Amino acid sequence: MPSQLSQKNERRHDVVVIGGGSAGYAAARTACDAGADVAIVDQGPLGGLCILRGCMPTKTILRSAEIMALMKRAREFGLVPVTARADLSAIVDRKNRLVQEFADYRIAALRDPRFTLYESRAEFVSPHEICAGGVRIRGEAFVIATGSRVSEVAIPGLSEAGYVTSDEMLDVRQAPASLLVLGGGLVAVEFAQFFSRIGTKVTLLQRGATLLSDMDQDVGEALASAFQGEGIEVLTGVSFEQVTSSPTTKTVHFRQNGVSQIRSADVIFHALGRRPNLNGLNVGAAGVALLDGRLVVGADMRTSQPHIFAVGDVNDLTPIVHLAIQQGETAAFNATHPDVPARVIEHRLDSEMVFTDPQVAIAGLSERQCREQAIPYLSASYPFADHGKAMCLGALAGFVKLLCRPDNGELIGAQIVGPEAAELIHELIAVMYFHGTAQDLLRIPHYHPTLAEIVTYPAESILEQMGRI
Ligand SMILES: Cc1cc2nc3c(=O)[nH]c(=O)nc-3n(C[C@H](O)[C@H](O)[C@H](O)COP(=O)(O)OP(=O)(O)OC[C@H]3O[C@@H](n4cnc5c(N)ncnc54)[C@H](O)[C@@H]3O)c2cc1C
Repeated sequence: MPSQLSQKNERRHDVVVIGGGSAGYAAARTACDAGADVAIVDQGPLGGLCILRGCMPTKTILRSAEIMALMKRAREFGLVPVTARADLSAIVDRKNRLVQEFADYRIAALRDPRFTLYESRAEFVSPHEICAGGVRIRGEAFVIATGSRVSEVAIPGLSEAGYVTSDEMLDVRQAPASLLVLGGGLVAVEFAQFFSRIGTKVTLLQRGATLLSDMDQDVGEALASAFQGEGIEVLTGVSFEQVTSSPTTKTVHFRQNGVSQIRSADVIFHALGRRPNLNGLNVGAAGVALLDGRLVVGADMRTSQPHIFAVGDVNDLTPIVHLAIQQGETAAFNATHPDVPARVIEHRLDSEMVFTDPQVAIAGLSERQCREQAIPYLSASYPFADHGKAMCLGALAGFVKLLCRPDNGELIGAQIVGPEAAELIHELIAVMYFHGTAQDLLRIPHYHPTLAEIVTYPAESILEQMGRI
């Protein structure tokens, strides 16, 4: 018990960061650069979700599926077809090699002697103290960065039938013959396409009206249409009723448009979302306010206890890695600079990318957000099917859409579904960063023929709508 600890088991640090993933590491580094005595407490495995089970492993395996899909199109490009067969075990080996490399780098950074690293689970014992592996640690400030975990979902029979999550899917070495994907968000769609492309029969069951239902409808529809073109069955607007199983098959019972339906497969992949991970942290003892299981934070990343901050997936603002890093840096700055105006997070340039083929990338405001917030906007989109470079590449799915202010043409939102969308969107983010306009997009030189020049077409259409052409 903490009260029985001897003096040598009591420590004190200026800033105690709980969780050494992307958000926590960014906080620790920033606090250290500001001259603070910083402790990181992580229960392990060290490395964080992005490196171990998130961004990096998924992007690695998706590359194999992308090449496989291109090889299958050999004839279309005038090439003599070869028989391409996925060796999932070898794909997993390649992924593991790269993940190990990324993880080693992060672990070395966490073990840098400028931090004190406690490799134990942290538990609050009071608003100013935690207990970690028998050591009682007092902090002037705390940054909670304990990430997220897969949500529990109350579908009758699902637990009994058994399912896998993204954590397990990354280590499957034998592709299932058939797969039912529950969910239609980032994780669901990336895995659905990966397994479909390496030969699994995939059915995706999505509760929302479209795939990626937090985004504008046309985005999800364009992705669903590309998926269906590749043979993935996509069913949206479903409500789950129950799951049953036999020794060889699992069956999901659901309703769609009021009609009862079933789909069966070898494996069910649960990708119905993640929740803040507060397991075992005893946040009750920290006295921080929670809302629906989430830590409530202000724009300065402070919880209801001014010396306790919460960053990354654990605050559930936007579970995306570069935003987790930005939040970690902001919290650490505020924790170490109490006498200057607080830094705050603004969401004007928030973005989200999905690494399917076609890729999906959005930045700034969506049409839905503009409507909900009564923000006037003009929009124009242009299809890749009508763009020269995309035609050369044989990558015709999707579109670019721009949202601009009607008075001055300032770019306030951008959406791309298409080839290299996640790379292309960065030009639009840069223009938004500088409060640039549709006119600026036309003035900026674009090399021909490039995918990048596609943005000039909707920009032109915005100016036409404004009567400037
Ligand atoms: C399959 C998948 C793909 C993804 N792909 C992308 C992508 O392409 N791009 C993108 O931007 N985002 C992606 N994400 C999301 C991204 O991975 C997360 O937003 C990000 O990694 C969260 O970082 P974090 O620092 O908040 O949490 P984490 O990296 O999860 O770090 C939390 C740390 O806290 C530690 N911890 C937890 N509880 C305790 C405790 N009580 N005591 C001590 N330590 C504790 C854990 O050991 C862990 O190291 C993906 C997520 C998934 C699941």
